[in-house]
Amino acid sequence: MFDILIRNANLPDGREGVDVAISGGRFEAIARGVEGEAARVVDAGGRLLSPHFIDPHFHMDATLSLGMPRLNRSGTLLEGIALWGELKPLLTHDAVIERALRYCDLAVSQGLLSIRSHVDVCDDRLLAVEALVDVRERIKPYIDLQLVAFPQDGLYRSPTAEKNLLRALDMGVDVVGGIPHFERTMQDGARSVTRLCEIAAERGLRVDFHCDETDDPMSRHIETVAAETVRLGLQGRVAGSHLTSMHSMDNYYVSKLLPLMAEAEIHAIPNPLINITLQGRHDTYPKRRGMTRVPELLAQGINVAFGQDCCMDPWYSLGAADMLEVANMAVHVGQMTSLDAMRQAYDAITVNSAKAMGLDDYGVAEGKSANCVLLQARDPIEAIRLKATRLMVFRQGKIISETLPRIAKLGLEGRPGRVDAADYAPVEG
Ligand SMILES: [Zn+2]
Repeated sequence: MFDILIRNANLPDGREGVDVAISGGRFEAIARGVEGEAARVVDAGGRLLSPHFIDPHFHMDATLSLGMPRLNRSGTLLEGIALWGELKPLLTHDAVIERALRYCDLAVSQGLLSIRSHVDVCDDRLLAVEALVDVRERIKPYIDLQLVAFPQDGLYRSPTAEKNLLRALDMGVDVVGGIPHFERTMQDGARSVTRLCEIAAERGLRVDFHCDETDDPMSRHIETVAAETVRLGLQGRVAGSHLTSMHSMDNYYVSKLLPLMAEAEIHAIPNPLINITLQGRHDTYPKRRGMTRVPELLAQGINVAFGQDCCMDPWYSLGAADMLEVANMAVHVGQMTSLDAMRQAYDAITVNSAKAMGLDDYGVAEGKSANCVLLQARDPIEAIRLKATRLMVFRQGKIISETLPRIAKLGLEGRPGRVDAADYAPVEG
């Protein structure tokens, strides 16, 4: 007797019409024609059962603060930074927790069950750190939250940042963060990379830099990140977020950089929604896109995971905890429209992100925790195309969110009475 038996599901790897049996919070059997009874049977109807979505780059201390204390009128990074500066002294413990919990409700409804969030440590009160450590405990039953100690104002530019970062790690923050391109000089940036990688090596932690989030082709901190990773034996544990300067770099230099990043097993975390919005702002025309070189990174064997970065905060008024929207944007910005590239974009919001965050218990596979999402789409490409409705979200074998399928009723004479956009998938041949 299973707890749940999901009949006739498609899986992201291309298997079709499989049954997925769940017991004791884990996937017990995944095959065609699984025999047995279940307390609840779900008919997937040939739709996609996917491992849950992962956001490897987010700012949960700022999310849903849009409008506090005022709206970002210009929509620019500079006004966003000014707004965050106005908001920071007004933050309270309870308000940060309430906004984070409210965001997590939305995330669950979108099948987003693992999140890596940076938390600003350039506030001597470390109020947001305290609040998000608390949130991490509270949401454990439904979301894995990984926290990054992020010295937003610069490790050396902000006089108390290093002390606060170490305090935050002592308080249980999981990952070491940094922002080398925001230090006063290139040398300070490189020094901050060395210091932060050493802290991570001493403490056995992972690292995730906001790295080279600029259109300046000479912003090359990722090179130092890769070199320090190898020097300290941190291979596979270091991520470079954004890496937008790579968009503008000289091709010859990039041909040297990519193998260095591969050697260091760096995880690249572009944030397509934010990169296309904030980069290229000093350009007239032609206007650069700013997103890093995703197809080239993938071709080099480098792990690429897409992050959302922002949702209704001082920097970005949009966002909906929707990782399919993130993948959809990446496909467009990166011109990743080949069949393989669209599949890779789906991996970048699922399996690749699990790798970047070091999550082992992940995937729709026998023995793994039964965390997954049933989508109103047949395959990953259709899921990206439609930003498909999350019909059911499962966590440890329990259904924690359900959404009705999106079906329109038509009132057209001589035409069908209902339209389900997920019925439009192409049939080859
Ligand atoms: Zn960020």
